[in-house]
This record gives sequence, C-alpha cells and structure tokens, in this order.
Amino acid sequence: MFPAAFDYHRAGSVDEAIALLKQYGGDARILAGGQSLIPAMRYRLARPAVLIDINPVSDLGYIRDSDGMLVLGALARDAELERTPKLHDRYPLLADVSAVVADPVVRQMGTVVGSLCHNDPAGDWAVAALASRAQVVVRGAAGTRTVAIDDFLVDSFTTAVADGEMALEAHFPAPPGRNAGSYQKIERKVGDFATASAAAWASLAADGTFAEVGIAIGAAGPTAKRVVAAETLLRGKKPTRELIRAAADEAAKAADPSADGRGSVAYKKAMAGVLVGRALDGTCKRLGIEV
Ligand SMILES: Cc1cc2nc3c(=O)[nH]c(=O)nc-3n(C[C@H](O)[C@H](O)[C@H](O)COP(=O)(O)OP(=O)(O)OC[C@H]3O[C@@H](n4cnc5c(N)ncnc54)[C@H](O)[C@@H]3O)c2cc1C
Repeated sequence: MFPAAFDYHRAGSVDEAIALLKQYGGDARILAGGQSLIPAMRYRLARPAVLIDINPVSDLGYIRDSDGMLVLGALARDAELERTPKLHDRYPLLADVSAVVADPVVRQMGTVVGSLCHNDPAGDWAVAALASRAQVVVRGAAGTRTVAIDDFLVDSFTTAVADGEMALEAHFPAPPGRNAGSYQKIERKVGDFATASAAAWASLAADGTFAEVGIAIGAAGPTAKRVVAAETLLRGKKPTRELIRAAADEAAKAADPSADGRGSVAYKKAMAGVLVGRALDGTCKRLGIEV
C-alpha cells in the first residue's frame, strides 16, 4: 500500500529540524531510520502531513563517551553499535541488544533513539534503557531537557517528546565498579519482535553483594517495564540460585502481556520470569561468579 500524501523536508541541521517542527507542530514527524515509520505510513497506521528527514544532518550519528556515560546521537544506528568494540567490553548489555534487534538489513538503518521514540511495547532498546537507567535529551524551540527513561516511556507508541520537539540523544550511564549485564529475547524467528524479553544489569560491591541492579522486561505490557520488586530483592545480597529464582518469580508476577500470535498471556508471563533468570545468569557469568 502507498502512504497517504505528505510533504517532505530535509533538515540540514538540528536547528533547521527544530524550526520545521515549530512551524508544523503536531502535523510533523521526524524521519530517522524509517524502519518503523515508513511501514506504519504504508499501512496507513500513521498519516503525518509532514516528514522532517534528519538523515542529512551530518553529525548526529555519534557514539561517544562523555562525563561517565555512553552518548548516542539521534542517528546512531544499531549496526554501528554492533560494530563498536568498546560496547562489547564496557556495555555488554547494549552489545547484546545491538545484535538481536530485527535483522541485519533493518539494523543498518534503524536507530536506538528512533526505537525509544517509537516505543513499541515489544521493542528491544527500551528494555535495555530501563535496566541501564538511561536518559533521553529532548530539544524544542523552548530549549533542551533531559528526561529519565522511566518518564520518557509514557504508553504504547507514546513518549514524553511533545509536539514541536525531537529527541537529540540517549545517555547510558557507564556502570560503576565491577559490573556486567545481559539481554535475553525469545522470538519466533530471526528478525521478529520479541515474544518476551528481559534485560539485567548489576554492579558488585567489594564484599560480593549486588551494589546496584537494573531489571526490565519487554513485550510484557503497554511499554517495557522495570521490575522494581526484583531489583529490591537483589540489591545488597550475594547472588545465589535461590535469589535469582526469586527475582525471576517477581518478573513473571510483574509481567502484564497481551495474548497475540506470538503467545498466550500465561506463556508470556512465564517467559518473562525465565528470561530474567537467564539474564541474571548471563550477568553473573560475565562477572565470573558461579551460581
Ligand atoms: C522487519 C522489521 C523487523 C523489526 N524487528 C524489530 C525487533 O525485533 N526489535 C525492535 O526493537 N525493533 C524492530 N523493528 C523496528 C526497528 O528497530 C526500527 O528501526 C526502530 O524501532 C525505529 O527506529 P528508526 O530509526 O527506524 O525510526 P523511524 O522509523 O524513523 O521513526 C520511528 C518513530 O520515532 C519517531 N522518531 C524517530 N527518531 C526521532 C527523534 N530523534 N526525535 C523524535 N522522534 C523521533 C518518528 O517520528 C516515528 O514516529 C523492526 C522493523 C522492521 C521493519
């Protein structure tokens, strides 16, 4: 199917994109990788009157360390992250995600920030962003604000980005001390959205207890969801098989999925628990801990 008619603008700079957003307000949509927006337009699920293409902005694809965080520009693409060695060494959770989003062709164009902005309930990046306590920098004509990911993900396909604003970059704090993470996803076939997914991230204190923990699940409700009960359970304790099992049980309880072609509610709830268990196992393995 062809999209409904729309006007197309190429923004040469962020300022130009912001000016266009101010001019067209709620009628306009940013075009990043186009891997979600274009299919939605072709199915007439989205009918923006104006597209503002930010791909001509030459300096938005950055992946850099800054002030103790990994900073991803609005055009940092999944494939670029997959090929970034420091990600594998220092941000293993993000490296895991970059290899399982969609398929290599989609990852060539799709962006992390675009995925967060799209906020598909079964998307992968929002899950990792929640576990990592990421932030998104949002800019509009009135200025720039930094939004914690928990506040950014408002509802299915809805974020804190208001009409006239765009997301400029995502910040992933560099985990302190001895730390690791892992992302786990069940998909019907390679390239599919998650039937269920889970992200874990943890840092260890000197005495071997969990100092800080992030646990989140995907395809488990209207948006990706932080499992606060599991985080609370783990924090300050030494990793054991029983503790991981209890955290996994909390995730299964917290999951609130819908039944669809990918699975029943009962199956998806059970898998949320299984995957949190696997993500914690993967984290412990990377930390060199036997559980
Ligand atoms: C076949 C296929 C399989 C896929 N499988 C998966 C999967 O397994 N897991 C997964 O997570 N995703 C999957 N996707 C989605 C893919 O990862 C998308 O690329 C991603 O969700 C959106 O990124 P994008 O850069 O393409 O955004 P776009 O499609 O360009 O934009 C998506 C939405 O976000 C808005 N937006 C984008 N960037 C900004 C910005 N900087 N500021 C404000 N608004 C912005 C757009 O206006 C639009 O509403 C799949 C897509 C396809 C086509």
